[in-house]
Amino acid sequence: ALRISDVSKHFASEQAEGGVLQVLAGIDLDIPAGRFVSIVGASGCGKSTLLRLVLGLDDAYEGEIRLDGRRLHGTGPERGIVFQDHRLFPWLTVAQNVEVGLRNAPLTKAEKRELVAEHIALVGLQGFEASYPHQISGGMAQRVAIARGLVNRPRVLLLDEPFGALDALTRSRLQIELQRIWEREGITMLLVTHDVEEAVFLGDEVVVMQPHPGRIRRIVDVDLPHPRNRSDPRFIALRD
Ligand code: ATP
Ligand code: MG
Repeated sequence: ALRISDVSKHFASEQAEGGVLQVLAGIDLDIPAGRFVSIVGASGCGKSTLLRLVLGLDDAYEGEIRLDGRRLHGTGPERGIVFQDHRLFPWLTVAQNVEVGLRNAPLTKAEKRELVAEHIALVGLQGFEASYPHQISGGMAQRVAIARGLVNRPRVLLLDEPFGALDALTRSRLQIELQRIWEREGITMLLVTHDVEEAVFLGDEVVVMQPHPGRIRRIVDVDLPHPRNRSDPRFIALRD
């Protein structure tokens, strides 16, 4: 399980009153292994900050983040991430970009090559291994980013608005693909999104983060209506 306990985060900020911007305040979130949790919340409420803490990019916070009981410090192979802007290296090929996810892995060249090939296939990009990011579409670039996030076989995949920049059709295709991957690989997913329908469609659980400072205000449980069924009162309750 991923256990986020009483996590608070502030930044020094000249604009803020008292010079301190409190971004997160006492976040508690307990995510059983294999769960798909969506986080929604207004812009600026601290969603990306929370993902950065879970990823281990920033250890300066109060509270604890544990994975299967172990306190997390810094980044590690058990956590992968996909950012909104795919953040591929333009000078590397698709295969090389996926391999970036293995840069610190104690594996042989052959083992890396095999994992890269497996994950390129997982996201349906066979045949594009040697292409460069400028030669592929935005949706394909996001698939590469997903393959890179998964290639080290993390227990937790963090997704920060992974489909935000895509057109509606590509977005819904990738949503279905992500769901399929989640069902097959059984990893824990933590998805940040602005899109409530996406949150409901993909998540077993939707967490609403309240701004200033960010708090988890409500956890809506598994039994959610299909997003297309807008007349379902549970869906309306979610949007109030
Ligand atoms: P969005 O939905 O727009 O992506 P978010 O919920 O991801 O927003 P964050 O990026 O986590 O929000 O930012 C939360 C708050 O923390 C914002 O007010 C932001 O300005 C502030 N913040 C984030 N990073 C820093 C930093 N390094 N230094 C100072 N303030 C920061
Ligand atoms: Mg963000």
